[in-house]
Amino acid sequence: MARYTGAVCKLCRREGKKLFLKGARCYTGKCALERRQYAPGQHGQSRKKTSEYGVQLRAKQQAKRYYGIQEGQFHKYFLMAERRQGVTGENLLRICESRLDNIVYLLGWANSRAEARQLVTHGHFTVNGKKVDIPSYLTKAGDEVAIKAKSKESDKFKALLESDGRPVPQWLDLNAEAATAKIVALPDREQIATPVEEHLIVEFYSK
Ligand code: SF4
Repeated sequence: MARYTGAVCKLCRREGKKLFLKGARCYTGKCALERRQYAPGQHGQSRKKTSEYGVQLRAKQQAKRYYGIQEGQFHKYFLMAERRQGVTGENLLRICESRLDNIVYLLGWANSRAEARQLVTHGHFTVNGKKVDIPSYLTKAGDEVAIKAKSKESDKFKALLESDGRPVPQWLDLNAEAATAKIVALPDREQIATPVEEHLIVEFYSK
């Protein structure tokens, strides 16, 4: 399936919650959801009853859109999460959090996950000293992620590194000056900000 290339704010309006897909704009009054708190389209303002299935489907769609993951890959992550020890829903979110594009975004080295994905594809980062240009690369505890020395000197990264940025989660140990970060441990549920009820996703796939 092709990647969604339409207006991303419509995705937030469809889900009725902020998915933070547009970088700095999401934190300002210009956020489309703050101005129009209803679904897009002709019938966006009409009230609809949502079935149990519909609620579960929306939870899955929200998580996929939040991380920018396609259906096939997301389902693969679910199967992987089921095989791991622990709570499946939490495992699923932990897998999504460990993707290299997500790590780059959380470290403030990109303004949005979409931008992070593009920067990773362009080969600007290393994991444990080796170039990795696969956004879905799954990092693990102990890995060291860095901006490549040459990339660090570009205007783009100089601006990103000099900006105040968002707070970095505690499970990532950022050395801002060196533009490196160590993954201390993969996050617990309370350290994951994803605005979804993951048990609904598990129920969706378990039917
Ligand atoms: Fe969503 Fe950000 Fe657009 Fe607001 S500005 S609707 S949070 S993508």
